Amino acid sequence: MKSLFIEILNEYVWDDIHLRINTKTSKDVEVALCKSCQLNVDDFMALISPAATPYLEQMAVLSRKYTQQRFGKTIQLYVPLYLTNSCVNHCVYCGFNHKNPIKRIILADEQIIREVEAIKALGDFQHVLLVTGDNPRDAGVDYIENALCIAKPYFSSISIEVQPLQEEEYKRLMEAGLHAVYCYQETYHKENFKNYHPKGMKSRFDWRIDAFDRMGKAGVHKIGLGVLIGLEDWRTDVTMMAFHLRYLQKTYWRTRYSISFPRIRPHEGEAFQPNSVMSDKELAQLIFAFRLFDHDVELAMSTREEHKFRDNMTTLGITSLSAGSKTDPGGYAVYKKELEQFAINDDRSPDEIFNAIKTQGYEVVWKDWDLCLQ
Ligand code: SF4
Repeated sequence: MKSLFIEILNEYVWDDIHLRINTKTSKDVEVALCKSCQLNVDDFMALISPAATPYLEQMAVLSRKYTQQRFGKTIQLYVPLYLTNSCVNHCVYCGFNHKNPIKRIILADEQIIREVEAIKALGDFQHVLLVTGDNPRDAGVDYIENALCIAKPYFSSISIEVQPLQEEEYKRLMEAGLHAVYCYQETYHKENFKNYHPKGMKSRFDWRIDAFDRMGKAGVHKIGLGVLIGLEDWRTDVTMMAFHLRYLQKTYWRTRYSISFPRIRPHEGEAFQPNSVMSDKELAQLIFAFRLFDHDVELAMSTREEHKFRDNMTTLGITSLSAGSKTDPGGYAVYKKELEQFAINDDRSPDEIFNAIKTQGYEVVWKDWDLCLQ
């Protein structure tokens, strides 16, 4: 019995998985589409493979059906609150990269309150995602806990997207009212990971991937996983994530899970050319494949994606959307439009997104899903 996912991951050979996906046939896709029981990762590989392209419409119909069966005709809205852009890491695709000469901000208590109040004026948000760069010295767990306590009276559900923490630190934040942790591995390609994360704590692949086990052991209610599309071959990367998801579900079965697949966006500083480009059609295929693979998992999409695409996916598999997002610390009230982490692609107001969802016959849920399902 393996005790950490890294031990399982080490047994997979990247090129073998890549070959397995790319040699899937129409027959493999049809077998996956006909299954009424839970799909395995091999089925998932068939559904994301080039061989599945002619089956997109069938996959979309099934994806919509399973999503509606599990979540009803509803979409959960959340809002990110960037607390700081201070970061010790050198991620080559990010505007907050330590070597990027931008103004660094760590929001003080009264500034966090101003931001929270500005968010509440935008819409009836009950689910906030607190986001930081990685600066354990000046914005470590004490700072995060304090921010969480400031935000708590305003929201029924608080999630974080911060640097990987120790198990004890996750426990401490849970006691302070934390609900969910989102942490993106970015890529599961261990050898190439350092090319994208050359310096700082994030260059330690094992520390990052082990964080999911630490979250599970700490009893985090919901864990969000994600691959940054554009680094490595996306099909192989998301397959590794599917293995990871199944491992976590089996090992930490009380926890719920969320999946994201952000595509690289332009940002401040030296431009990063994606190594692999995913078309809208391929992203749709991936969303459908994940829904068929797992009927219960939350599928989230941020404002990185263009609004028409988000609207289309609203009824076809996505269950959670960010809205009104500012990707810079203080972006809602304190420092407007100065310090974005990445450029957003859907700049509609929460009201406009609300109306777009309603127009499609769907209800908006402002709370986190798990709290609605309790
Ligand atoms: S992706 Fe995160 S860790 Fe990397 S530079 Fe940006 S803020 Fe820092």
